[in-house]
Amino acid sequence: MEILNYDIVILGSGLAGMRAALQASMASNGKLRIAMLSKLHAMRSHSVSAEGGISGVLYPGENGDSEDLHGYDTAKGADFLCDQDAVEVLIKHAPEEIKLFDHLGVPWNRGADGRIVLRAFGGMSVPRTAFAADKTGFFMLSALYDNLLQFSNIEIFHEYMATGIVCDKDRFIALTALNMATGETTAFTAPSCIIATGGFARIYGFTTTAYSSTGDGIALAYEAGLPLKDMEFVQFHPTALIPSGILITEAARGEGGYLRNANGDRFMERYAKSKMELAPRDIISRAIVTEVEEGRGISDKKYGDAGYVHLDLTHLGEAKLDERLPMIKEIAIKMIGIDPAKEPLPVRPASHFTMGGIHTNIDGMVMLDAKKPMSNLWAAGECGCVSVHGANRLGSNSLSQCIIWGKITGNAAAKHAIDAGSKPADVDAKLLDDREASVHRLLDSDGTEDPYAIRREMWRTMDAYVGPYRTADALTKARNAIADLRRRFTDVRIGDHSMVYNTNLRDAIEIGHMLELAYVTTACALNREETRGAHARREFTKRDDEKWLRHTIAQASKTGAVRIGYADVKITKWKPEERKY
Ligand SMILES: Cc1cc2nc3c(=O)[nH]c(=O)nc-3n(C[C@H](O)[C@H](O)[C@H](O)COP(=O)(O)OP(=O)(O)OC[C@H]3O[C@@H](n4cnc5c(N)ncnc54)[C@H](O)[C@@H]3O)c2cc1C
Repeated sequence: MEILNYDIVILGSGLAGMRAALQASMASNGKLRIAMLSKLHAMRSHSVSAEGGISGVLYPGENGDSEDLHGYDTAKGADFLCDQDAVEVLIKHAPEEIKLFDHLGVPWNRGADGRIVLRAFGGMSVPRTAFAADKTGFFMLSALYDNLLQFSNIEIFHEYMATGIVCDKDRFIALTALNMATGETTAFTAPSCIIATGGFARIYGFTTTAYSSTGDGIALAYEAGLPLKDMEFVQFHPTALIPSGILITEAARGEGGYLRNANGDRFMERYAKSKMELAPRDIISRAIVTEVEEGRGISDKKYGDAGYVHLDLTHLGEAKLDERLPMIKEIAIKMIGIDPAKEPLPVRPASHFTMGGIHTNIDGMVMLDAKKPMSNLWAAGECGCVSVHGANRLGSNSLSQCIIWGKITGNAAAKHAIDAGSKPADVDAKLLDDREASVHRLLDSDGTEDPYAIRREMWRTMDAYVGPYRTADALTKARNAIADLRRRFTDVRIGDHSMVYNTNLRDAIEIGHMLELAYVTTACALNREETRGAHARREFTKRDDEKWLRHTIAQASKTGAVRIGYADVKITKWKPEERKY
């Protein structure tokens, strides 16, 4: 197997991975050799589809805004499960990052006075979300990518899919990756590694996320014995377009859109009177489910069996839609033939974001256990749980988190690589061969199970039993069903046995990862007997701070069961209070 040695290897080229690469390059004056891997072309990373914007207090004092208020909103939105020392880092650094991206070339929407305009977002007390129309992710990612191309020390390995993370005790040693173009496995070693592989909301069938959001880095870390944190907390976005699940950004409500039930009522009045359509996502998603369950939903066979509600943008007017939400207008017209200037859009909640992920400390260092970090492995972006989002993320806080911890981990990885010098690590070839062999076992297997049938069954199970509302009965059914699918997956057979661009093989690897993460999510959800943020249990309808104000830590065990432990939540400034909107 080919072994390539670098100073830093970055797994993933979304906003977190690219921001880390930029920082590590700048920190070393372009001296460190950096490999950045992406299973897709880097510009197809899921960050490209972020729509509504990025949070940050650009104008302290205006509208009564302050970093402290941003922190309070974030902690309250998180139902106080976030680590507040990390939230303090987020609110402090978000404004300078938005300004950096201005310099990198993002065309932020501006007012007549030339200043960057801010829009309202759910759970935020005042407008503090900067945006580039409704294509914020596209502009941010392309600005970063354009800038990275100027650094000759960064090599981007497009369409290299990581298949293993090899560690030795508290040290990262190497990654193995499948080159999609040839089917060959290459190993990448470096004194520093950053995982930035995004979230895993694709474990659900009805989702706003891309087919690629399969949580590979999280699954590989789990497989390597590393702990995961707060995996039960999955965000359901209230307004996914039916029937595809394509996101209709929260900015549509930030710009003044209404949610209406079958009677035409703005039903959010019953659930969050002061915030209405700009309540946090967990509350609105549950409100929609309740409206449908209580018979006030809308149904139309052409959109399937599930009931839905209307997102009404008709009163905003054509000009505002064209200026602020052009992509939403285009999506609605192209996907379902509805012009949102003229008719309301059919929407219902879909899985959207995963608050949980690889357990990291405040510096993004991957934790080995409750106290000890790995010496040279970091995780940034949606795959890492530094825990600024706690039990429920506020919209537009993710992009800030991705780039801030991209910067933090890029700096730290660069410093570590410089200190370590350029001596290549000793690699036990057998460990690398084992990773390659496991891919070949899948490729050559003459089993009987169709991976796509298993994936359909996983999606059906997660949609039906692990949604915005959860019960012990439903979660137990889900856990047993996913356990059965894991067992069936060991006898899987893929249709294409060739080496070149074998997308069947890629899909099967992803399905294996998703099954593990679906299993962990379900086990952790069953374990947490309270309602907090996005995790709502029908039998335990209240938040229980005495017993459950703590992070869930999940680790793999030899039997395949999930070992569950806990970690403390850090409270600094904002005392837990009842969450009312
Ligand atoms: C439709 C949509 C709109 C959103 N809009 C907003 C918004 O407006 N504001 C906001 O704050 N948040 C938004 N979010 C959330 C936000 O976009 C994501 O949390 C964020 O972009 C994640 O970035 P990332 O860098 O962590 O990962 P990603 O952008 O998902 O990138 C992951 C990278 O890892 C690579 N990768 C994964 N697995 C492997 C593997 N096995 N081998 C090699 N490479 C691998 C991928 O190729 C990719 O390069 C939105 C989410 C969705 C779904």
